[in-house]
Amino acid sequence: MEQMFSGHTRLAALFAKPARHSISPAMHNLSFSENNIDAVYLAFDVEPENLATSIESIRTLDMLGVNLSMPHKMAAVPLVDALSPAAALIGAINTIVNDNGHLTGHNTDGIGFMKALEAIDVSIIGETITVIGAGGAATAIISQAALDGVKEIQVFNRKDAFYPVIEVKLQEIAQQTGCNITLQDLADDSALADALNKSQLLVNATGVGMKPNESESPLKDTSLLRASMAVYDVIYNPRETQLLRDAKAAGAKTANGLSMLLYQGAAAFELWTGKEMPVKKVQALIETL
Ligand code: NAD
Repeated sequence: MEQMFSGHTRLAALFAKPARHSISPAMHNLSFSENNIDAVYLAFDVEPENLATSIESIRTLDMLGVNLSMPHKMAAVPLVDALSPAAALIGAINTIVNDNGHLTGHNTDGIGFMKALEAIDVSIIGETITVIGAGGAATAIISQAALDGVKEIQVFNRKDAFYPVIEVKLQEIAQQTGCNITLQDLADDSALADALNKSQLLVNATGVGMKPNESESPLKDTSLLRASMAVYDVIYNPRETQLLRDAKAAGAKTANGLSMLLYQGAAAFELWTGKEMPVKKVQALIETL
């Protein structure tokens, strides 16, 4: 569909470094066009030292808002006027909404994850789940799952320098949501086996298995996978990771990170425009990219 721009056209954007490879412009421009919204979405490479002035430009240029990606999600938090409850809990934002110069930071990654589970008919409310990884993607997933009413989240991470920091952060999320959250060493095979045994869902929230290391998996013992569990991998490049291949072989329901990407975008689109993203059309488009 051809889109005409005018003197009234509003701007939305991605601020990231690097930003040019992003599929967000394709997602949002198709959605503006399908909804007859006079707006355009562009991707800008923003250096960390230019983040504050870039965020100020949301006000000066009366932009609809922006998405933020690496490395700006945490650095942008003190630069907005208000935070959504999930963004405050996570301590990172991926979306800014401009309401007449008042900037609110949101985090739609966790919302996107929960929607992605809904799309494959997996319900984790009141259940136990296991998450491998405790970085940015994992924190958004864990926070939203805890806010939405997941009973217990067993988190596994390698024992690196961030382990004690993560431990404090997860305790804070547990206290604020009432969800039972534990952190254990990913190298502790028996703890991982126990956790998976009582989990409805396993999430890989690390980059292990991403191109070009496609034969790697964060879960070495594939006998821990079973048909009665679901496995979600936040990775979407490749579309099918070794973990997802192993999970499929065990008969488990699986999905890759493309759906989380799609639904985090849909949530941001709705925040900016009040309109629904045409997710089926956008999904068909991004699957070809
Ligand atoms: P991050 O750097 O904040 O966290 C990475 C996590 O992976 C940490 O917990 C780290 O300890 C762990 N890790 C890294 N290498 C490891 C290894 N060799 N063995 C075990 N654990 C290891 O990164 P992030 O922003 O959380 O991103 C993680 C992944 O999620 C990336 O692949 C990213 O592309 C993906 N992601 C997907 C979406 C989506 O919408 N699908 C959104 C955000 C991030």
